[in-house]
Amino acid sequence: MKILYPTDGSKTAKAALEFAVDIAKAQNGKIIVLSVAEKISSLGVEWREMEKPLIDFANDFAHQAAEEIRKRGVEVEEKVEVGKPAEVIVNIAKKEGVDAIVMGTHGWTGLARAVIGSVADKVIRHAPSAVILVPTKVED
Ligand code: ATP
Ligand code: MN
Repeated sequence: MKILYPTDGSKTAKAALEFAVDIAKAQNGKIIVLSVAEKISSLGVEWREMEKPLIDFANDFAHQAAEEIRKRGVEVEEKVEVGKPAEVIVNIAKKEGVDAIVMGTHGWTGLARAVIGSVADKVIRHAPSAVILVPTKVED
C-alpha cells in the first residue's frame, strides 16, 4: 500500500500525518511525503527572490514530517516540488500509482467559512485514488 501524504506544515496537515501512519502500519505500507512550494504565477522577476525561501520552507516541513514518520517505524520517501499544490499532488499521485492520498481538510489559511480548503477541493475532484480528508478538532 502506497500512501501520498501532502503537507503544508499546518496543524491540520499534522493531524493527517497521524492518520496516514495508522493506515501505513495496518497495511504494511509506505508513505510519500510531498510539500509543494507554491509558485505565484502573478509574480514575474520577483518570483526569483521568493523561490528559494519558499523551497527552503517546504523542505523543512517535508523533512520534519518524514522524520516523524520514520520514528514511528514506517518506510518513508520525501519529495519537494514547485508549482500549483493541487496540480502537483494529483500528478504525483498518478505518477506514483498511489492507493490513497491522506491530507487535511484545511491548511494554513484555514478559513472557517469554507468546509474544505481549495487545495483539498481540487484534489478530490481530480485524484486518481481514494482521498482521505482529516479535520482538526473543533476546539482547536
Ligand atoms: P486555502 O489554501 O484554499 O486558502 P486552506 O489553506 O485552509 O485553504 P488547503 O490549502 O486546501 O486549505 O489545505 C488542505 C490540505 O492540503 C492541507 O492540510 C495539506 O494536507 C494539503 N496542502 C495544502 N497546501 C499544500 C502544499 N503547498 N503542499 C502540500 N500539501 C498541501
Ligand atoms: Mn492552503
